[in-house]
Amino acid sequence: MKTLVWVEHDGASVKDATLAVVTAASQLGEVHLLVAGRGVDGVAAEAAKIAGVGKVHVADDAAYAHALAENVAPLIVDLMGHHDAVLFPATSNGKNIAPRVAALLDVMQISDILSVESDDTFTRPIYAGNAIATVQTKDAKKVITVRGTAFEKAATTGGSGTIEKVAATGDKGVSTYVGSEIAKSERPELTSAKIIVSGGRALQNSENFHTIIEPLADKLGAGVGASRAAVDAGYVPNDYQVGQTGKIVAPEVYIAIGISGAIQHLAGMKDSKTIIAINKDEDAPIFQVADIGLVGDLFKIVPELTGKL
Ligand SMILES: Cc1cc2nc3c(=O)[nH]c(=O)nc-3n(C[C@H](O)[C@H](O)[C@H](O)COP(=O)(O)OP(=O)(O)OC[C@H]3O[C@@H](n4cnc5c(N)ncnc54)[C@H](O)[C@@H]3O)c2cc1C
Repeated sequence: MKTLVWVEHDGASVKDATLAVVTAASQLGEVHLLVAGRGVDGVAAEAAKIAGVGKVHVADDAAYAHALAENVAPLIVDLMGHHDAVLFPATSNGKNIAPRVAALLDVMQISDILSVESDDTFTRPIYAGNAIATVQTKDAKKVITVRGTAFEKAATTGGSGTIEKVAATGDKGVSTYVGSEIAKSERPELTSAKIIVSGGRALQNSENFHTIIEPLADKLGAGVGASRAAVDAGYVPNDYQVGQTGKIVAPEVYIAIGISGAIQHLAGMKDSKTIIAINKDEDAPIFQVADIGLVGDLFKIVPELTGKL
C-alpha cells in the first residue's frame, strides 16, 4: 500500500506532529510525503531525512503558502491517483484539509486514529475518549487523521527520501488569506512540551493565574495549559485549553492545579505519563487518574513548591 502524508510545516521546518503521522503511515506501507508551500526547499530537504520516508513530493506555489484547504485539497486529490491512503496530523490545519479531501474523493474520513490494526482497520476514541471504537473501512482510498500522542515520533534523521517536484493545481479562487495572529510565547508549545503546568477555575482570576501558575512553569521549563472553565472565565486565552474541545496532550509530566478532572478535561490529558494533581477536595475526580496527589490549598502549596525548586 502506498501512503501519502501531508507535511505540516511553518515554511521553515517540519512540525513535530508530522513525525507521529509518518510512524502511523509506515504501519500501512510505503511512505511518501507531500510538502506544499511557497519556498519550501528547506522543508523538503528536512522531510527527506525523516526515517522511513521513500519519496517527498514538493508542490512549490503561492497558492499553498498558507495551507488554505481549498487549494491544498485538489492537489492531494491529484496525488491520490497513485496513493492508497492519505494521512494528516489531527491538528487544526490537518483537520481543516482532510474532510475536503475525503469529500472530493467521495470517501469516509477516519478521524483521530490511535492505532493501525490492519490495512483497513483502525482504533479511534469516542465519547470523549471514554470508549475506543475499532473501525473498518471498505473505501479504496483512505483519508485518515492521526492523533499525534498515540504514535511514537519517527526519527528526524536516517532517511534518504527522493525529492520530486509536482505540478501545482493553482489557486481555486474560493478563499483568500487575510492574516494570522499567532500567539508568541517563550514557553514550549503545549502539544510538544515535556512538562505541562495547567490551572483551573480555582485560580479565581487572570492575575492569580499568572502569579501562581507561570512561575512554577518557568522553573520547570514547562508549557502552560488550562481547563475550559479557566479559559471561559478569561484567565488565559483559549489556545491554552486542554481537553476534548481543546488540545490533546501527553507530556512526561502533567501538573493539574485547581482542576476538578471533568471527563472533558481528562480526554485531553489522561495519556500523560505522570499526572500530579493539586486540589483542596480529596474527592475531586482528578485524583482517580493522578499518580501523585496533593490535597490542599493551591495558594499555599504552589508558591511553596515553586520556592523550593
Ligand atoms: C461539550 C463540552 C466540552 C468541554 N470541553 C472541555 C475541554 O476541552 N477542557 C476542559 O477543561 N473542560 C471542558 N469542558 C468543561 C468541563 O465539563 C468542566 O466544566 C471544566 O473542565 C471544569 O474546569 P475546572 O476543573 O477548572 O473547574 P471546576 O470543575 O470548578 O473545578 C475547580 C476545582 O478546583 C478545586 N479548588 C478550588 N479552590 C481550590 C484551592 N484554593 N486550592 C486547590 N484546589 C481548589 C475544587 O475542589 C475543584 O475540584 C467541556 C464541557 C462540555 C459540555
